[in-house]
Amino acid sequence: QKAIDNATPETVIAAVNNNDIKADITDYISMEQYQSDQGYQTLKGVLEGTISTESVIKKMEDSGLRGLGGAGFPAGRKWRIVNGFAGPRLMAVNIDEGEPGTFKDRHYLESDPHRFLEGMLIAALCVGCDEVYIYLRDEYAGCREILTKEIANLQNNPPSDKYRLPPIHLRRGAGAYICGEESAMVESIEGKRGMPRLRPPFLAEVGLFGRPTLEHNMESVYWVRNIVEKGPEWFTSHGRNGRKGLRSFSISGRVNKPGVHLAPAGTTMRELIEEFCGGMQEGHKFYGYFPGGASGGILPESMADIPMDFDTLNEHGCFIGSAAVVVFSEQDSARKLAINAMKFFEEESCGQCTPCRVGTAKAAVLMQQENWDTDLLEELSSVMVDASICGLGQAAPNPLRCAIKYFPEEIN
Ligand code: SF4
Repeated sequence: QKAIDNATPETVIAAVNNNDIKADITDYISMEQYQSDQGYQTLKGVLEGTISTESVIKKMEDSGLRGLGGAGFPAGRKWRIVNGFAGPRLMAVNIDEGEPGTFKDRHYLESDPHRFLEGMLIAALCVGCDEVYIYLRDEYAGCREILTKEIANLQNNPPSDKYRLPPIHLRRGAGAYICGEESAMVESIEGKRGMPRLRPPFLAEVGLFGRPTLEHNMESVYWVRNIVEKGPEWFTSHGRNGRKGLRSFSISGRVNKPGVHLAPAGTTMRELIEEFCGGMQEGHKFYGYFPGGASGGILPESMADIPMDFDTLNEHGCFIGSAAVVVFSEQDSARKLAINAMKFFEEESCGQCTPCRVGTAKAAVLMQQENWDTDLLEELSSVMVDASICGLGQAAPNPLRCAIKYFPEEIN
């Protein structure tokens, strides 16, 4: 929290994998405390067959929960698809959390790790996955210590003495942003260089070690216990401005209360600042925001009343992704932030395909010239979007294009 309090928009967007945000061991809900609040009873029911896997999958489908790593694929539908491929199946949990400005997974791991572990194992059992691999960003040293201890604790004290839990493997990332891309993560777990795969086939069919794989972001499974126990309507009863569900916004920048704010899906940026973040910092006038980390684009203050959720920002050239919001003020420059973002993508490109490897480098050079050649930058952006293999190269031009479109007074 201290690091987030002190971060400026420029340092957040410039952070190469947020290495400047160090982890400490925090007070978290222990296994005993978690169990005293009915924790692991749902997992026990699924293990022993008193709760059917079909009823759990149905609840997940009805909840409308979508993948919270950023892609937004409906979780229940994914469970059914992976379950439809012949076993053995595996599960891979993505806690690489490398998008600049995102720190929600870390927040939940450091406060309630067993809620995550229970949801993860319920998902593995419902889909029929024999083993689970957790991929954790290596900068999260505190989370690694917590998970190592609590996974051992759970395996030594399983919820049911009749049925065994699937083995859980904790794997360390090595600081590459691209390893947060699901297929690059799978390559990395397999011990190869983390480079995205060409698809199809999709991971659901040919994933980790060639097996059908259920791949999920950490937060997506964190909500499973609540949805199963409280019912899908608990999740869908939240929401604003025509949207449904909850979103964990990682908010940093020029606001009074940065941090993780759990808010209804569809909450607007202006509502987030006013109701959840205690307003703008003294001396800072709201000027613009990144709605979804470095890759989700940049919007001006005049567009702060759009409901923030999956799909609502696409027509404006932006997306919410993992809901990493960076708020900036008139003391910041959208142009400089867009340059920082492009340099970040240049640094983190895996280099596998030319449009991204060369495009990010070329764009970063062009953007540092006093007058931007907007026609050339636009052409370059189109090639990157159309011809890059993965989301990194496809999304890299978003802040650049937004800076040209929404902040023209800063460009030339
Ligand atoms: Fe690698 Fe970039 Fe191509 Fe993705 S788009 S495969 S990160 S070079």
